[in-house]
Amino acid sequence: MNQKIRTRFAPSPTGDLHIGSLRTALFNWLWARRNQGEFILRLEDTDQNRLVMDADKRLLSDLKDLGLDWDFGPNKPNSEFGSCIQSQRLDIYQTAIKRLLDQDIAYKDYTSPEDLQELRQQAQKNKEPFLFRRNMAQEAPGKNNQSYVIRIAIPDNLDLTWQDVVKGQQSWQGKNIGDFIALKSDGWPTYHFANVIDDYEMRISHVIRADEWLSSTPKHLYLFDCLNWSRPQYVHIPPILSSNSGQKLSKRDQDARAKNLIDKGYLPEAILNYLSLLGWNPKIEQEIYTIDNLIKIFDIKQIQVSPSRFDSIRLDWFNGQHLRLMSFTDLLNQSQKWWSEIGQKADRSYKKQVLELVYQRLKKWSELAELTDFFFQRPKSPSQEILLKKTKLDNQQLEDLTKASMKAFKTSDFSASDLELKLYQLALDQKVSPSKYFTLLRLKVTGRTIAPGLFETMHVLGKNESIARLQA
Ligand code: GLU
Repeated sequence: MNQKIRTRFAPSPTGDLHIGSLRTALFNWLWARRNQGEFILRLEDTDQNRLVMDADKRLLSDLKDLGLDWDFGPNKPNSEFGSCIQSQRLDIYQTAIKRLLDQDIAYKDYTSPEDLQELRQQAQKNKEPFLFRRNMAQEAPGKNNQSYVIRIAIPDNLDLTWQDVVKGQQSWQGKNIGDFIALKSDGWPTYHFANVIDDYEMRISHVIRADEWLSSTPKHLYLFDCLNWSRPQYVHIPPILSSNSGQKLSKRDQDARAKNLIDKGYLPEAILNYLSLLGWNPKIEQEIYTIDNLIKIFDIKQIQVSPSRFDSIRLDWFNGQHLRLMSFTDLLNQSQKWWSEIGQKADRSYKKQVLELVYQRLKKWSELAELTDFFFQRPKSPSQEILLKKTKLDNQQLEDLTKASMKAFKTSDFSASDLELKLYQLALDQKVSPSKYFTLLRLKVTGRTIAPGLFETMHVLGKNESIARLQA
């Protein structure tokens, strides 16, 4: 029977969505969409001590902003398996643990934290890895300890083998896996337990997740086997490294937050396009993909084994490419909130002209205000000293050129082409190099040495404003 493809992204609401998790979500989402399957967003919130206030809301809103929609999620339960929030599924874990207790696969352990600590220290002393086993467990409530955890007994001779889609064949021996806790003393499930129960209940076909979970997988598979459930496929994806440090991108790194990219005005499609290629290699030259393209060709079999690096310069490039795929009208509509404060209030038709001049060099929206503020506000006029230094002209030349320019400005119709003609002629007449002269004009008109095309800029600013700036 062909199973429906169902994937899930299962974050714990313990912090903000960062680039690594976003890529995990993306791969799951793409694989579901590619196969007309379903994508589930599941909140793994059973570690109540680690919850961060509103982290769940922020996760949802970031995913939504980026266009990763879910078929079932915190706000969209499923009629068969119910809620997608683990803290609302506690009875389901209770039922499952009863079954395992009945089968004698799970057992109660009354060992107190102090005794556990002692066992650990003992192992350390003997230079042995610490593995909890049933014979170490206190089976009845002690005087000081009435509470218990429920553990899963791992047989020493267990031999688990599976085929990871990315990592290939894996095999683990029971003698290396301790009896792990499934239910904590407060009755809440651990990650390992709830994760498996839900992957089964939610009929997950592919578990696509970070490879830091690879060593947990034997525990998960053992549960699947004990409960006689068929295993999902596991797809463990390699980490994303920081291009600066070469270390794994850290959740604590503020710049690595997805929200940071959204706030900087990267386009969702550019972010997703760039992230899709961190760890996935479609083996064709093309790099720029629309979301629809990605859905058509994404394949988990092409996920790479080796880590990749997050490079913000590459992301800028991808974003620039995607900006230029947009129609100019869409760009103009989207630009509204990115202009400087004064720019926001300016006329739409004026902003249209400004945007036409700068959009080719725009890498991300957050640059727009800085790039264009002089169109909306007269810049501070540069000092004589700066003019001399930057233009390499002398005092006399500055004076003559300013005077001559004023005349030329007044007689020009201020079209870009007429300005170009007249001002080149002027440089010739004054026997100065056009590049020095235009640096002078650029400095006077825009307050900077690097700006969009000089004649087009002056045309947009208009005659009166340009004259005023030249005079200043
Ligand atoms: N809750 C886990 C996390 O935060 C999910 C791991 C998994 O996908 O199994 O990453």
